[in-house]
Parts: sequence; structure tokens; C-alpha cells
Amino acid sequence: MDKIKCPVCNKNLKTITYENQEVDFCQTCGGVWFDKGELMGVVDGLLSKDLVDSESVEEAYRKKAVSSKDIDIFQRCCPRCKVRLEVFNFSYDSNVFLDRCPSCLGIWADKDEWVAIAKYIKGNPEVDKLAEALASEFKEPLKLIGNISRVAAVIVSLFYLVAASVMIGLEGFLRVLMILVLPLACIFFGEHMGKVTGTWFGISLARPIITKPTPGFVLAIGGWLVLLTPLFAYIAQILAEM
Ligand SMILES: [Zn+2]
Ligand SMILES: [Zn+2]
Repeated sequence: MDKIKCPVCNKNLKTITYENQEVDFCQTCGGVWFDKGELMGVVDGLLSKDLVDSESVEEAYRKKAVSSKDIDIFQRCCPRCKVRLEVFNFSYDSNVFLDRCPSCLGIWADKDEWVAIAKYIKGNPEVDKLAEALASEFKEPLKLIGNISRVAAVIVSLFYLVAASVMIGLEGFLRVLMILVLPLACIFFGEHMGKVTGTWFGISLARPIITKPTPGFVLAIGGWLVLLTPLFAYIAQILAEM
């Protein structure tokens, strides 16, 4: 890969391995270019080995004095895409201002800013907990709904099968069984077809915060519509006869 240049000094960056991540380091200004996801890899490495102290009060106050305006004195461009980097406040209130590429989602951190991020997360474990809690909160009810839906589908299907056997006999039973295969497959396996995906925490960092329903969820709803159609038709018929 071509050497990429420091967005501040315009000198070639040196690829180094830091906390098991290959990052591009500027030997002149001490800044580091992190490709997408690498920053959180480094921060996780630092935190798991307990290599950072919690942020001191002094440090927190010193950072508060910095605004994005002070930092954005000159234009910095993505060393890979050449588009202008956007300044953002990590986790909205850390007052660690990083530069992110809107195109490749790489992040430029000035000297020791990634350590400031690690310190911020260590001093604010709720940042991580919040992300985890939200992720599981969105996942658990979906799982529960899925299980209730499966049990209910079996009960409805058994009802159809018994009704068909009683009213039409074996032929009715077999016909209903064939009709039930497709909606039941959708309800039982629809959700497995799309894996749960996470969006990114903060603005572009590798923490799942929200999981969204997948097309499998839609398939299960479709299955239910098919499954309930005869029941609705039957109810409509009874109502019409009344
Ligand atoms: Zn530099
Ligand atoms: Zn870029």
C-alpha cells in the first residue's frame, strides 16, 4: 500500500503495530491515523491491560477549555480519500476532538488523544454499559416475541389440523398440513435468515448500540398473515351468517 501522509505535517506516516492494530503514526507531530475500527481496537487494548489511569480532574478541566473552533484552524484532509476531515467531539461530551473522514470513516487523532479517549471511557464506564444495555434491550424483546410467535403458530396450526380432521377427515388433515408448511417455515426460520446487525456507537466507533429488525422479521409477519387468513375468513363467514 502507498505511504500515506500526515494531514497536519504532510510527512509520510510510519505504519506501526500498537495494541495488535496496525496504525499509521507521524514521527513529527505524534498524531496517528486510525482506519475504521482501529481506534476502538487500540482503546480496548489499553483498557484491557489496565494501561491507563482514570482521567484526573485537572485533565478534564483542561480539555473543557478546548472547543472545536480552536482546533479547526486549518483544513485537514483524509490521507486516504483526500476529502476534508470533520471535527467531532468523541461521545458528544468527552471534549476530545477527533477528525473523522466522512468517506472512509478513518479517524485522525493528534498526539495522545487516543489515550485521552481511553481515559474518558475508563472514567465513564457508563459509556460502554449504555451501549451494551441498549444492544441487549433491543435484542431480548425480539427474541421473546419470536418465541411467543412460534408457540402461538404451533397452537393455531394444531387447531386447523384438528378442525380439518374433524370436518373433512384425513384428506383435510393432509391438505391443511401442506398449506401450513410455508407460513410455519417463515415464522420459525425467518429471523435466522437475517443476522442482527449493529449500528455504530457515537458517530463512527465500533460499538453496537442499536440492533434493528431484519428482513426475517418481515418474513415472520408474512407467515402470520398467511396463517391467520383462514381464521379471519372463517370468522367473517360466521359473522355474515348471523
Ligand atoms: Zn504530523
Ligand atoms: Zn478517508
